[in-house]
Amino acid sequence: MNNTSAPTLEQIQNFEGKYPPQLWSLFFTEMWERFCFYGMRGVLAIFMVNMLGLTDVESNLKYGAIQAFVYAFTFIGGIFADKVLGFKRSLFFGGIVMILGNLLIAFSPKEMFYFGITLSIIGTGFFKPNISSMVGDLYKDGDSRRDAGFGLFYAGINIGAFLGGALCVYLGKYYSWSYAFLAAAIVMIIGVGTFLFTQKSLGPIGDSPLQHLSASARLRKEALVYLFSILSIPLIYTMIRNTDYTDYFMYTIGPLAIIYFLYEWSKTASKPAKNKLIAAFVFIVFSIIFWAFFEQSGGSLSLFAEKNLNYNLLGMNIDPNVVNNTSNAFFVILFSPLLGLVWIWLADKKIEPNTVIKFGLGFLFLAAAFYVFYATRFFADEKGITSLNVFTLAYLIITFGELCLSPIGLSIITKLSPKKMGGMMMGMWFLASAYGQYVAGLLGAGMSSPDADASLPQKLMLYTDGYKQLAIYALIAGILLIVISPLIRKLMHEVK
Ligand code: GLN
Repeated sequence: MNNTSAPTLEQIQNFEGKYPPQLWSLFFTEMWERFCFYGMRGVLAIFMVNMLGLTDVESNLKYGAIQAFVYAFTFIGGIFADKVLGFKRSLFFGGIVMILGNLLIAFSPKEMFYFGITLSIIGTGFFKPNISSMVGDLYKDGDSRRDAGFGLFYAGINIGAFLGGALCVYLGKYYSWSYAFLAAAIVMIIGVGTFLFTQKSLGPIGDSPLQHLSASARLRKEALVYLFSILSIPLIYTMIRNTDYTDYFMYTIGPLAIIYFLYEWSKTASKPAKNKLIAAFVFIVFSIIFWAFFEQSGGSLSLFAEKNLNYNLLGMNIDPNVVNNTSNAFFVILFSPLLGLVWIWLADKKIEPNTVIKFGLGFLFLAAAFYVFYATRFFADEKGITSLNVFTLAYLIITFGELCLSPIGLSIITKLSPKKMGGMMMGMWFLASAYGQYVAGLLGAGMSSPDADASLPQKLMLYTDGYKQLAIYALIAGILLIVISPLIRKLMHEVK
């Protein structure tokens, strides 16, 4: 991580054109990481049923727990990056741990599964929040091109997610589970390699926060972080083996995170910085609601797709679960860069909506999408089978909601957080995703029929009733955000 001939921060941030060139390095690194992550995630539930002999219910519970842990660990990864490692080293360490995790499972899928997943959780925790923070560092405060940059970065995320989900599931189902996890490991090696080769272009961005210490003192502190990571292995391992612990974990980590946030907040000297942190916190809380609804895609919507949809998408014969699993990433790839350019265009005309309004729009799209999921009931035949076209339209709409909230959320967190808390705040943003996943499971379970013999028309009515409820709550959240937007805008000071 030396800086010879590396650009200065000034040079990086004074880029011309729409995107800073360094964004591509982070784009590809994150694309490979998400390939690995979504590849692993895509095979998880099926693998646990087929290889580990879990029932569907156990597999679903474990899947939810693993997702929650992955995103919860980003909070810890973010803090360690701020305090000790810096983003670059964090990324490198996290990447190596993810590679090890996937290799372990590849070599011995049955025996090493939980151990490998534990490493994936720790690795992702160190990797995921910190790469997003580095994207934010490419921009000067007040640069209106930042949201567009995150939009492009978000497209990279989804290209990785799309390819990883497709390739690993294909390899796992038709060849061997070892190949699926091996592919995830190889792709992650490419990701870490991409980062190593291009990191010099990031200049001082992501360097250690302990530059002022001697090399040996710094190393000692870093060693403690690595030691902590090793010590946390048995803990995480135990918690994913027994999902009863997930509830306790979720009840604990959130309050602890809030206490830690308040502690850091109270140490923040300037009033505007304090206000900005409160605004960031409000965005984080709303994002929990968003993800709790949005993540029905992995749960109730995939069951709905399996049972209640026909196979006709615009005249093509296609499995509705394939549509359920891929259409969102597909639409993100298609529309994310485009929407980014719309933001830049609106900013040029001085009519770009501010972030609170964008968040509000995100919820309005979410509401519209769930209304369309509800409306599928009006297209059903007497057997309870309904239109895949209408279902896909809902995915198109929900994707616009995601694009108004998720990349914009990453961006606003980097705008509102003081430099020394950047990693932790990004970790909190993803911790909200952990809660979103967790609540999504509870909501989905609440919507499914307790009666295993329920007929398809009954299931259709139950699920779509649930979606109507979600549409109403999303609408309320959206309106609430827009109504309180002047208040939040005040807390944000000059940040838009
Ligand atoms: N799909 C995005 C990603 O993988 C957002 C995930 C989230 O925050 N829940 O990065």
